[in-house]
Amino acid sequence: MIGVITITTLVQQNNGSTEDSRRGQIIDAAIDTIAELGYVGTTLAQIAARGGVSAPLISHYFHDKNGLMEAVFRKLVQRVARGVVVRQGRAQTPRAQIQAVIDANLAPEEFDSRTGIAWLAFWGQVIHIPQFRRIQVVYQSRILSNLRHALRPLVPAHEVPETAAMIAAMIDGVWLRATLSDWSETNSDSARLMVSHQVDMTLAAAQGKMQILQRATGQVQKNFINGGFVNAVGGETFETRNPATGVVLSIVEIAGAPEIEQAVAAARAGQRIWARMTGAQRGRVLNEAARLLRAKNGELAMLETLDTGKPIQETSVVDVASGADCLEYFAGIASGLAGEQVDLGPAAFGYTRREPLGIVAGIGAWNYPLQIACWKAAPALACGNAMIFKPAEMTPLTALRLAEIFKEAGLPDGVFNVVQGFAATGRMLTQHPGIHKISLTGEVGTGRAVMADAAASLKHVTLELGGKSPLLVFEDADLDNAVSGALLANFYSAGEVCSNGTRVFVHEQVRAEFLRRLKLRTEAMRVGDPLDPATQVGALISPAHMNKVLSYIEAGKAEGAALVTGGARAMAGALAQGCFVEPTIFADCHDEMKIVREEIFGPVMCVLSFRDEDEVVARANATRFGLSAGVFTQDLTRAHRVIANLEAGTCWINHFNVTPIELPFGGVKQSGLGRENGKAAIEHYTQIKSVYVALEKIDAPY
Ligand code: NDP
Repeated sequence: MIGVITITTLVQQNNGSTEDSRRGQIIDAAIDTIAELGYVGTTLAQIAARGGVSAPLISHYFHDKNGLMEAVFRKLVQRVARGVVVRQGRAQTPRAQIQAVIDANLAPEEFDSRTGIAWLAFWGQVIHIPQFRRIQVVYQSRILSNLRHALRPLVPAHEVPETAAMIAAMIDGVWLRATLSDWSETNSDSARLMVSHQVDMTLAAAQGKMQILQRATGQVQKNFINGGFVNAVGGETFETRNPATGVVLSIVEIAGAPEIEQAVAAARAGQRIWARMTGAQRGRVLNEAARLLRAKNGELAMLETLDTGKPIQETSVVDVASGADCLEYFAGIASGLAGEQVDLGPAAFGYTRREPLGIVAGIGAWNYPLQIACWKAAPALACGNAMIFKPAEMTPLTALRLAEIFKEAGLPDGVFNVVQGFAATGRMLTQHPGIHKISLTGEVGTGRAVMADAAASLKHVTLELGGKSPLLVFEDADLDNAVSGALLANFYSAGEVCSNGTRVFVHEQVRAEFLRRLKLRTEAMRVGDPLDPATQVGALISPAHMNKVLSYIEAGKAEGAALVTGGARAMAGALAQGCFVEPTIFADCHDEMKIVREEIFGPVMCVLSFRDEDEVVARANATRFGLSAGVFTQDLTRAHRVIANLEAGTCWINHFNVTPIELPFGGVKQSGLGRENGKAAIEHYTQIKSVYVALEKIDAPY
């Protein structure tokens, strides 16, 4: 066999570099053969003939066809990997490192017809041949890990995996289409340009978010007064932490007496200018603020998730959007605010003016920080008031961004101010004689304290307080729907929702089936990293609050409630660093149990059973709270009758916890005073001035 190398000659030569070159020669011959005949049509004999070697030599080196093909595939993959390493060695910046991955994968040598066909042939076999699959997995994950590493300083942490996968998909997709179109669609140059352009656009969008996040977390946060950030005189600060990780997000300056005085003076001056503007002009500013909120939804949602521990799945569709909805709703109302004309006979007429109250202090809870700030600011500002807002100390970050957004939208300086701190800062507002109204969202006890302080200067108050609301499931209810309602009523925001229906009364006829379906769906819920878009239940607000919730769970067990599911802290992997509690359901609960009487404000549902309507209505009402209530039944007459008899400010029939801005929201009994949202809110942010206009001479008896 002239010109053909045999095993004997090879063994005689016994030379490593010759072996390598022989292997290379065979692999090249294999690529050529595949390019010509396709994967299936290629045989070892054809490769041997093309490579000028004997078939037994190929078997010696590679065992069989699959062994040889594996080596070929490895060679193709290694070439790309080497290309990345060489280019990344020269890359000076993270962006250049991404470019190295793009350039290596879409290099001219990957665009020649011979290589292209070989790649396609292998990709066609990857599904069927485990060795190929392993190589492909390594190849794919190596690209992703290179990209992720380079992306880390460029995009927000939770967007890194998704962005890396997107760039990798673009690279492969562009290459695949080019190859399948026989390079008529793109070549190496245009493909690299195309992908680079898309990457630049993605990174530009991410850069805005990164800047906001760095500004919002990386430095000391100051009070926002009179249109800008001010240095606090006292120098006292507090930390705000991410409850999912325990990591400190920011240091925040506390507003003391000097800052409160500054804020009140600024609000007084700003309010005069703001109240003189027409309703339409004020509405325009609020609409612009809503537009900006929506435009910055991504970064604001992320900030809210970092500060509260709530899943990004929620904050990205509810918190910012609900705030924007509220601003738009009251923007629309602003231009229609008016008093009325009153006919008083031929000698006179009267009219009323609907005037702002002046300066309103908003004091927020930590569960919906941005939404609460918007729900208070929107009606207050629409009516021509100025606002000084104090966020809960646990969640001070997004209100500051809202202040910046208002300024950008054209709100005059001083009309919206943010002061930070604990209850002491809140009390400086509630006790300040220059402030005309307090709107608080918080606990019942705080509501009492605020009202007592406000009484000294007879301030108006709106109180949105806690609850222990009932949800009634009648025997004719659509059970799946009722289970959905119960889940929404208990586990949204990890149960940290004031209006939650935590006392779930289920008719005894359907109790067993209801519990079966409820357990199944609860156990399928995903507790996890709040920044992961798949997470449904995030972290509770703080270790102290988590311990309080866990102590209620222990109380439930001790009192003899039957634990259906959950019942413990969630500790798997990284969750152990944060404040996670398993969604928990107790059945066989009784009205007098502590877990049934007290607001837990965590993911703990109490299921109770009942027999008849009067009984359940009486039990549902047997509480000092009255924030909300829900009824699940197919019987419309019963639904309205029961709702009419329930002592609650906000009710749902066949739903739970939806709060459209158009409907007033608030509680009765000890769950609150006044209403937010809807036209009703206007009553709480304006006062009526009555004007008598005489048309005839005064008929005086003196
Ligand atoms: P808190 O009552 O503890 O705090 C609410 C706000 O009031 C915080 O900003 C707090 O400051 C401040 N504050 C506390 N004491 C005083 C005081 N004496 N004078 C003035 N301000 C004071 O409520 P949480 O933040 O713990 O929120 C959870 C509670 O809020 C739950 O009971 C929940 O039901 C209720 N809530 C009600 C809603 C409704 O619309 N009805 C909606 C959402 C929640 P700091 O925390 O910084 O010390």
